[in-house]
Amino acid sequence: MNYNAEPPRDGLRLHLNENTAGCSPAVLAALRAIERTDTAFYPDYGAVTALVEQSLGVPAGWVQLTNGLDEGLHVAAQAAARDSRDAATVIVEPAFEMYAACADAAGLRQIHIPPPADLSFPLEDVLRAIDGSVRLVSITDPGNPTGLPVPQGAIARLAEAAPQAIVFVDEAYADFSGRTAIPLPDRYRNVVVGRTFAKAYGLAALRAGALVAHPDTLALFRRLLPPYNLNIAAVRALEAALRDRAYLDWYVGESVQSRQLIYDFCRRAGLVYWPSEANFVLVHVGDEAAGLVDALAQRGIFIRDKSRAPGCAGCVRITAGASAHTRICLAAMEDIRASRQN
Ligand SMILES: *Cc1c(COP(=O)(O)O)cnc(C)c1O
Repeated sequence: MNYNAEPPRDGLRLHLNENTAGCSPAVLAALRAIERTDTAFYPDYGAVTALVEQSLGVPAGWVQLTNGLDEGLHVAAQAAARDSRDAATVIVEPAFEMYAACADAAGLRQIHIPPPADLSFPLEDVLRAIDGSVRLVSITDPGNPTGLPVPQGAIARLAEAAPQAIVFVDEAYADFSGRTAIPLPDRYRNVVVGRTFAKAYGLAALRAGALVAHPDTLALFRRLLPPYNLNIAAVRALEAALRDRAYLDWYVGESVQSRQLIYDFCRRAGLVYWPSEANFVLVHVGDEAAGLVDALAQRGIFIRDKSRAPGCAGCVRITAGASAHTRICLAAMEDIRASRQN
């Protein structure tokens, strides 16, 4: 099967790490096949949950679907805040902004760990920050906005160091990295892995995510979630998306090509970048970060200014989606930079 990237409509969105090509065509067919009674009856999640468990390679009972991974982050924060008055969460910077938002919503005290200059994962600093009050440790692997991996063995060490805490491994980009901590919850019941179908599968607007953990750990989360948290469109879309493995493989291949295009551009332009395992690349463009983001936006190309994130002064984050889209962005960046130098 040959897949194509849709030409950009309403601008080229490279600022939220979405699938720039859209979902699999099979997803649209499944949505069109929804019938009148499908929308009238409360949804059943048995079949779709089994399909997700199969696709992630875990036994029945180890997956809880969520309304996007964001709902999973909220429920983890609520679970962590539940049994203690002074519960705290450790957030490793630069971090996905939702961790602080969810901690705030749940009333968790926040301990932010600043990054080293090279933005690598500060395992020893995180371990030092853990005390009895820490009930949630949020890790993103690969990191957002860095795209860097968490070192091998780090999550197991955190799980051992903080048995009273949920060690939440946010794997929003694992479809691109090809690595996963999913085997760990078998050994460590405090490890919860979060996945989303928003990014690689192109279902961001439908809202579908999953938590993977030991069934005893998931039991508390299930008490905190509403019983019908996914709508029928998300359910049918997710089933169709999981069955179209070829589309996922095609898109991940496009993203890998796009990363390489961005690296090549950076080398030619003399820009520092972080080699990424995800569908985006963090690039250091210096003082011109805000100006570059604005100049691209004027051309209908949106990238993310990350200058204000801890450790990321002068940095932008560019989604590495369909290669045709990446080429459009890089050509515009080249043009903007050339016109500045004249
Ligand atoms: C995009 C993203 C999410 C949110 O995923 P949704 O399923 O859209 O809610 C969670 N964590 C990280 C690190 C992300 O980048």
